[in-house]
Amino acid sequence: MSKGLKVLFVSAEVAPYAKTGGLADVAGSLPKELLKKGIDARIVMPKYKMIQEKLGYVTDFPVHIGDKIETCVLKEKKEKINKKTNKEIQIYFTDNYNYFDRDGIYCYYDDAERYIFFCKAVLEMLPKIDFKPDIIHCNDWHSGLICLLLKEKYKKLDFYKKIATIFTIHNLRYQGHFSKKVLGLIGIGEEIFTPDKIEFYGIVNFMKAGIVYGDIINTVSKIYAKEIQTEHYGEKLEGLLRNRKKDLYGIVNGISYDDFDPKTDKLIYKNYDLDTYYLKKENKYELQRKMGLPVGDIAIIGHISRLTSQKGINLIIKQIDNMLKENIQFIILGTGDIQYEEAFTKIKEKYPKKVGIFLGFNTKLAHTIYAGSDMFLMPSHFEPCGLGQIISLRYGTIPIVRKTGGLAETVSDYNKDKAKGNGFVFEEFKSSEMFKAIKRALDIYNNNPKIWQTLVKKALSSDYSWNVPAKKYIELYEKAVNKNV
Ligand code: ADP
Repeated sequence: MSKGLKVLFVSAEVAPYAKTGGLADVAGSLPKELLKKGIDARIVMPKYKMIQEKLGYVTDFPVHIGDKIETCVLKEKKEKINKKTNKEIQIYFTDNYNYFDRDGIYCYYDDAERYIFFCKAVLEMLPKIDFKPDIIHCNDWHSGLICLLLKEKYKKLDFYKKIATIFTIHNLRYQGHFSKKVLGLIGIGEEIFTPDKIEFYGIVNFMKAGIVYGDIINTVSKIYAKEIQTEHYGEKLEGLLRNRKKDLYGIVNGISYDDFDPKTDKLIYKNYDLDTYYLKKENKYELQRKMGLPVGDIAIIGHISRLTSQKGINLIIKQIDNMLKENIQFIILGTGDIQYEEAFTKIKEKYPKKVGIFLGFNTKLAHTIYAGSDMFLMPSHFEPCGLGQIISLRYGTIPIVRKTGGLAETVSDYNKDKAKGNGFVFEEFKSSEMFKAIKRALDIYNNNPKIWQTLVKKALSSDYSWNVPAKKYIELYEKAVNKNV
């Protein structure tokens, strides 16, 4: 069955067109692997202002938003799925000047309306482009309403009857909470505003729409799939998730081997692989030069994130003086909460020779850090999957992580299990525990270079590709189709 299966992958961000985090990486790479495996996978995303490449015109059509009629101008691009083949993936862009011709991606006063438009446009476009997917694969709150609209409205029409949905939770914290007023814009009526549908403590919750109405739901690691059924990680949706337990799966993300390959990466200073791992050092010196730090063989710990409390930034800030007593350089790339940005600016002023910071979003610098660092720190409070640690491993950079969600699933502690260990792991969300894990890593780095080399080589030779996870997604698609017949 899987060959010829048609899948529409819906995402608010897709790398390299628009990206704030891991969702874009997944949307930009998983569909390509599916296509490689014989699935007719296509992608759809909003056409934001930052997307400047030439797009082809497909069609335009009206979209009803409350009493208004907005126009969706549908555009397209065909993109090669990797460097080695001419196979192309079809990407659709829903364009509307009022909603998407803005500098950023999210956090506008009318986000509810923007993504209601997006969800409706995605469903409306299908008969117009004569593409009837077996599966619409929705991702996070921005496309949750598609699952609802399909079941509450569109399935009454023959064209949509057989379409099944998968809803993937990339981060349960961001749910799309809006006032009851947005019901008018969705245009289905008050009957969906009940606790078993999309009412959530008196407001509307778009992510809940995906969880309630998706035929199959999944998240991006098995451990996070379990965690979100508990009060601690469930973000007040744990009861609902427990109710849907038998349809809830976990699949760890892969990464694009085209975008993240130390052997061919054009964004790094010196390419290397398992055979030439010693060239990684050249990237370290380049990173030190770029960040204005003394150049030499000192251990570099890197961190790249959205600088939110989720990422355990307060643990780093609490422990920074102790950390910097060690013989290390610490490099941070990120943008996010202002109090963290200010704290790191002060830390940089206090330790100009030991700390490098860049506050902003910078893909080239991210690759420079992945390649040039020795260790990568992710002390997350929670982490659905986490790509930072996976990309680091791909570049032979050893992760130091907290045991939660996808971090727990992808990184094993070297001290606990020397055969399996590929990083350093601490359990309790405490800065002192994080510091102990850093010290364990530094101890091996400084005193046992042979063992360190083994860790680097093991990281460089492991598989982080989409090959296996994509097969698991195909199994989920088959489950969703079978549920829907
Ligand atoms: P999340 O999805 O929670 O942001 P992940 O670890 O899953 O976290 O994915 C983050 C992705 O975004 C990685 O590809 C990371 O390299 C990238 N990233 C995060 N912050 C920045 C930044 N400031 N500049 C460049 N890339 C960034």
